[in-house]
Amino acid sequence: MTSQLRINGIDVSFPFEPYPCQVEYMRKVLQALQTGQNALLESPTGTGKSLSLLCAALAWQAAMKARQQAFNAQASSAGGEKNSAAVELIAELERGFAESGGAWDPVRGAPRIIYASRTHSQLSQAMHELKRTVYTNHKVAIIGSRDQLCINEDVQQLESNAAKMVNCKVRVETRSCQYYLQYDLLRPKNDKDSAPAPLLSNKIMDIEDLVDYGKRTKCCPYFMSRDQKESADIIFMPYNYLLDPKVRYRNKVDLEGNVVILDEAHNIEQVCEDGASVELSSVDLAQCIFEIDAAVSGLMKKITADQQASSLSLEDLSGAEAQESLDFTVSDLFALKGQLLALEKAIDSIPLGSGDSAGPGFTKPGAYVLELLAQADITAPRVAHMLDRLDKILAFMSSTQGRLFRGTGLSRLSEFIAGVFPQSSYCDPAVSSASGSSSSSSGSSTQRRRGLPSSSSGLAQCYKLHIREVSGGHYGRSGATSAPAATVGFDTDASAAASSGPAGSGKPYRLLSYWCFSPAKAMLNLAAHGVRSIILTSGTLYPMEALRQDLQLPFPIELSNPHVIDRDQIITAVVPRGPNSVRLSSGYENRDSLDYQRALGECVASLCGCVPHGLLVFFPSYSLMSRCLDAWRSSRLFDRISSRKPVFVEPRRKAEFATAFADYYKRVCDPQYAGAIFLAVCRGKVSEGLDFADHFGRAVVVTGLPYPMWTDPRVRLKQAWLDEQRLATGRGLTGKQWYKQQAYRAVNQAIGRVLRHRNDYGAVLLCDERFATEESRRQLPAWLQHSVTVAKTFESVPDRLREFFASNSVKYPTRMGRKCACRPSNSRCSSTASRRPRLSSAPPQLTS
Ligand code: SF4
Repeated sequence: MTSQLRINGIDVSFPFEPYPCQVEYMRKVLQALQTGQNALLESPTGTGKSLSLLCAALAWQAAMKARQQAFNAQASSAGGEKNSAAVELIAELERGFAESGGAWDPVRGAPRIIYASRTHSQLSQAMHELKRTVYTNHKVAIIGSRDQLCINEDVQQLESNAAKMVNCKVRVETRSCQYYLQYDLLRPKNDKDSAPAPLLSNKIMDIEDLVDYGKRTKCCPYFMSRDQKESADIIFMPYNYLLDPKVRYRNKVDLEGNVVILDEAHNIEQVCEDGASVELSSVDLAQCIFEIDAAVSGLMKKITADQQASSLSLEDLSGAEAQESLDFTVSDLFALKGQLLALEKAIDSIPLGSGDSAGPGFTKPGAYVLELLAQADITAPRVAHMLDRLDKILAFMSSTQGRLFRGTGLSRLSEFIAGVFPQSSYCDPAVSSASGSSSSSSGSSTQRRRGLPSSSSGLAQCYKLHIREVSGGHYGRSGATSAPAATVGFDTDASAAASSGPAGSGKPYRLLSYWCFSPAKAMLNLAAHGVRSIILTSGTLYPMEALRQDLQLPFPIELSNPHVIDRDQIITAVVPRGPNSVRLSSGYENRDSLDYQRALGECVASLCGCVPHGLLVFFPSYSLMSRCLDAWRSSRLFDRISSRKPVFVEPRRKAEFATAFADYYKRVCDPQYAGAIFLAVCRGKVSEGLDFADHFGRAVVVTGLPYPMWTDPRVRLKQAWLDEQRLATGRGLTGKQWYKQQAYRAVNQAIGRVLRHRNDYGAVLLCDERFATEESRRQLPAWLQHSVTVAKTFESVPDRLREFFASNSVKYPTRMGRKCACRPSNSRCSSTASRRPRLSSAPPQLTS
């Protein structure tokens, strides 16, 4: 039942009677919006944060619209007579603004709300929350890439988003995509601000809905979503569309005077740093040279074919004339190849030392990248032209080779150069001034006015360049999982050559990493565009002071909400010893001990007998999880565990995840089993934003502290960079503090899976002796610290848990079976059970 509230002079509709912490949360959101200030708002997972955020923000936007209409009505009233209703409305809204310290701006219309989250799945959850409110009449848009929204089968098969973008552009220009033609037919021609007719229904559609809709109507979802954005009141987008200036500029995301909300912002520093960092390998360069050779050969073929078509001999037609219609010549291609060979030579000639603070390799301050690129004649004044040339070569190859051409090398080179010289890939003055990579050392006046770092000092302060040798195999943007520059297949001969070419050799290669270590760079850039308010919110933003210092923005409004649950709905036990007093620690010196791995298995087996339904077990890493699984399998422990609860393991591959997740949900609901276990990793998909309400997650076991990999040069350099900054400014975290903070943030994120709403209850078991210290307890979420006890022996734990679950199952009964939630948010489940659990006397379930 909808509840009507008056908060800070604004009427807010909420889908049910809100809890006090929700009202407080909405008050802070409204205060930030009304006063045009930034806010850091922390509210534990399960307190209905996203719902409160949306209700408050959209209620404020509705009030702003009403004010605008009243103002217009008053301004246009005949003969200067005042419209008394409009005057009264304006006065009332002014009072509301004055109460919260806000300013009255009679001219500006209602600001837009830009709602960003980490993944599309989290955005879909937020859109689902929006559908529960009365604010569904607000115009909603979601932005996605061609990767997510393109429905042209040929384009979908291309490897990179860059290749899809170029290929799509060619198809649009040549009008050879049927979905674009249909879109073009449907969109109103004289009103560019309107969405195509079929979408004017204002239905809230997430990415999946848009794709379904596009397939049904044979109309391009990508372009429909672009049009929707133009008139939207609230635009949903993943972080990179907002925080990466290049992507933001390309997608025309207008920030001036608008409100930016960053939800699930517990990891925002890393997102900002990732968005501003780029990598290039010697394999990419070799691949790029290979693709340019193929472009030369393609261009020669085209020239010959054109000459034959016009019945002229080679002598009759000069090269220049033959290439007139193209954007580049064979000589241009040779010149580009020369530059790349020079760059390859420059990288190869760098002596890689046996080690510095980052480990083996070569490390320099960020500005060194300019020296390196200059050796290949890649300099700031020439970059815009070079990027344009690379785009044109990609377009030419896409149009002549079709899906056989992937263009991975060219795309990666283009991305790298645009990352080093961001202002050259677009022409946004505010962005240019904030980019910190122009040739000027003094910085523009706008830059100085806004307190942004000046150019060369920005480079030196924010970046490090690191070059290292990597053994053959796979690497990705963050040194992770994507494939190396892929085989390029142009035709049969080229394919054969490519398979033995640069990408397929498996030899060691050099990886050049240009890493940004200052999250402030992206945030200051955002602020420089005149954003009205930036609201950062998450289940945990602790410690806020460190976050504020990292982002270098003022956040005058702050909130750290308590949980909505009562004290007796959570039990937390540190378990320093397993059965038979075996020491539990996933520390480096102990993790390979078979005794430890088996003791951990014994703990899990024992917990299967006393935790009802769903049990989530988090490991610090995939490698430790798989070593423990091997140990459990070799000793039949695994059989003991799985005979009680079927075991599901978080897969590394995205494609397999949805199936594992849906199967776990089904098993938990299946009366034939006593629930199920999901073995997962901290910082993995299970620990980030997925919903394990009620019986889907009755207990979370954390098996260790997930410190970042200390052998990772990026982690080492980040620590060294923080120490340097601390020495220079006396502010900020030390490298060591940051390192520890990363581990506890990941733990707290995993813990957040267990309590998802007011009537939920659950247990947290911290099975590592390092959690037993007072300092460790202080790093845990504030709402849970009161419940932490250290178990003297493991044997005392099961009885306490049985007691806890017995009493709470009476107090908070959950219906299983037909009524249970068998489908996680945003995943398709074949079960016929209803989607979300409804507790007899409880308000609807809240999600993060
Ligand atoms: S127009 Fe749409 S469907 Fe066609 S290639 Fe481009 S993104 Fe894909």
